[in-house]
Amino acid sequence: MQELVGDVSLSNGKLQQRLEKLEKEVQRLRRELRAKQRELQAKEEELLTQYYLVSHELKTPLISIRGFASLLQEFHADQLNGEAQEYLQRMIQNVDQMEKLINNLLLISRLHADETDLEPVDMREVVEEAIWEHHFQIREKNATVTVSPVLPTLYCQRNLMITAFSNLIGNALKYSRPTAPPEIQIGYSSEEISHKFWVRDNGIGIAPGDRPRLFRMFSRLGNTRGVSGSGLGLAIVKRIVEAHGGEIWVKSRPGRGSCFYFTIARIEPSRSSTHAKETMNA
Ligand code: ADP
Repeated sequence: MQELVGDVSLSNGKLQQRLEKLEKEVQRLRRELRAKQRELQAKEEELLTQYYLVSHELKTPLISIRGFASLLQEFHADQLNGEAQEYLQRMIQNVDQMEKLINNLLLISRLHADETDLEPVDMREVVEEAIWEHHFQIREKNATVTVSPVLPTLYCQRNLMITAFSNLIGNALKYSRPTAPPEIQIGYSSEEISHKFWVRDNGIGIAPGDRPRLFRMFSRLGNTRGVSGSGLGLAIVKRIVEAHGGEIWVKSRPGRGSCFYFTIARIEPSRSSTHAKETMNA
């Protein structure tokens, strides 16, 4: 462009030629970008298929270990001394943690865009159920959760939406400040082409430098000291949101709190194109 504007002596014909050349170049770059995006997507799908297969294989022996450990605990506890019983208990806790991790990997690798599986879902019920999943922690931490008086009914996958809200609320509770009881706000605004939701907390916040890797799989930041997790929660939320044609982003002030925003595309069921569906059975 600068080239065009700078040279005032160019004739109309030459200007036209240059414009056409530039337009062609832009088109070529766009095509290249689309090809690269497709390549990247294919690689990601391949990786997720691998995750699925590995997780699936790991799940069977794990269930078996859990089963035998429970049998030991139930029928042979009297043959074990206190120390052995404690080891067994810890073993079971670790197996449960691993099972959670595997279930999350299975969930993330089964999320696919699909047109068929949407239903009208009352988001108030979704949010209430997600809050209920954390009711022990809410009580234990003396947390308050306020919910927008307006929440829509929209076309989506109910269980996936519960998972998305549950992960965000769970994080708001986990990454709270020891000096301030968690205050969590769940908000909503109706936008022209999407529904916008947010989950705001008054927790420890996220350093600006950490934000680019926040939604990547297995990404845990420097603020997790003493807090358990696998670094999959936000990656799952991102995939759920994207499978519903939306986007997710965060605003945060370290030491003051974070707000996770996400959108869900407004979808007419008849012309829906990007929907979430779990396509494989675990
Ligand atoms: P996990 O909680 O299992 O580590 P997530 O994927 O849910 O994994 O989150 C990734 C990382 O992002 C967390 O380890 C934590 O460092 C940071 N994080 C997530 N939510 C919050 C939050 N509400 N406040 C501060 N940090 C957060």
